[in-house]
Amino acid sequence: MGKVLIIGCGGVAKVAIQKCCQNSAVFEEICIASRTKSKCDEVKSKFSGGKTKITTAQVDANDVNALIALINQEKPDVVLNLALPYQDLAIMDACLATKTNYVDTANYEPEDTAKFEYKWQWAYRARFEQAGITALLGSGFDPGVTGVFSAYALKHSFDEIHYIDILDCNAGDHGYPFATNFNPEINIREVSANGSYWEDGKWVETKPMEIERTYDFPEIGEKKMYLLHHEEIESLALNIPGIKRIRFFMTFGESYLTHLRCLQNVGMTSIKPIDYEGMQIVPLQFLKALLPDPASLGPRTKGKTNIGCIFRGMKDGQEKTTYIYNICDHQKCYQETGLQAVAYTTGVPAMIGAMMLMTGKWKKPGVHNIEEFDPDPFMDALGQWGLPWQESQHPDLVD
Ligand code: NDP
Repeated sequence: MGKVLIIGCGGVAKVAIQKCCQNSAVFEEICIASRTKSKCDEVKSKFSGGKTKITTAQVDANDVNALIALINQEKPDVVLNLALPYQDLAIMDACLATKTNYVDTANYEPEDTAKFEYKWQWAYRARFEQAGITALLGSGFDPGVTGVFSAYALKHSFDEIHYIDILDCNAGDHGYPFATNFNPEINIREVSANGSYWEDGKWVETKPMEIERTYDFPEIGEKKMYLLHHEEIESLALNIPGIKRIRFFMTFGESYLTHLRCLQNVGMTSIKPIDYEGMQIVPLQFLKALLPDPASLGPRTKGKTNIGCIFRGMKDGQEKTTYIYNICDHQKCYQETGLQAVAYTTGVPAMIGAMMLMTGKWKKPGVHNIEEFDPDPFMDALGQWGLPWQESQHPDLVD
């Protein structure tokens, strides 16, 4: 059917590449391009025996001209951005210049401010529309599948959704006292920021980890979870009519939180450069260099993830509640891909999002969040490509 250019070759990209290769009827060709080409070549050698033709390239995704040259050379149908959020705008600029469709899994965040918002990417709406190309924002799990679950619940189960609680539980144990399960810099920036939720048409801000709840997760059991700001709240607040409140909770173990607190207290999570013996060092980037590479956690991580959304609203004049979630087993993911479930649950929807654009099932020139599209083909594909979901009609609510 066509060709995808995948930018970045970390944990999430490795899963997406493997899934694209399994789906060779759609992904006939892949070009893997990243900062470190040797990583792309390693992945290429793993999958080059299959039907999908793989090429590799070196690119600095902060360099718009280099990206334009690469896209003009490779002529992909879709660019799948699996580098870091800092590169989103440069890659979107290159897609505009070459009239190429764009997919990512995380919204833009300036490198020097730990604040992620959609405003920068939404500013491209008119230009993408005029160019006749589609940008699909946030095609990971959260954001990503959580938005698809929301669109699906609205389409099939509710006349109006009033409350959404997104619950992200990772009950995996990797045996390290402290490690992050995706890019440490992005992860720590996210969890050390103030929390917030959407209520009655406005943001309510909280201190980091201020709101704590315990939830009894299907197939996992009781876990403590904490309210965080999360990017899909911003788009769901606009795209789910009649919504009254959206919150996002993530589980963390005691050891993770204690280490994080200590690191924060001594300044190791700061993104402000400091002068160290004549060199400029960003403490958080130095910390990242010390921590285990998330891609190396696969063999050690045991346990499951459970990520999903509890919806409350009205159907045929009656109040109604449903809970749609996916459960993923770290060891099963490792056996299949060599990576743990956090990379898996992001890489699979990244492939599916690119597939939706490649096959033309989703085609809407402009810049769109995932819940703006028909959820049905995506929901079908989730089960087919390794992330089956379940729906429970009588879940416990979060107070
Ligand atoms: P990794 O750090 O493992 O991989 C990032 C990759 O991007 C690396 O290969 C890195 O290259 C490459 N890269 C970084 N900077 C550049 C650059 N300037 N030019 C070219 N390549 C570059 O991250 P993950 O795989 O864990 O995460 C990938 C993305 O997925 C992130 O944006 C993350 O926020 C997002 N994510 C989304 C989730 C969701 O549910 N929506 C969940 C988890 C992650 P090098 O190898 O040289 O370092």
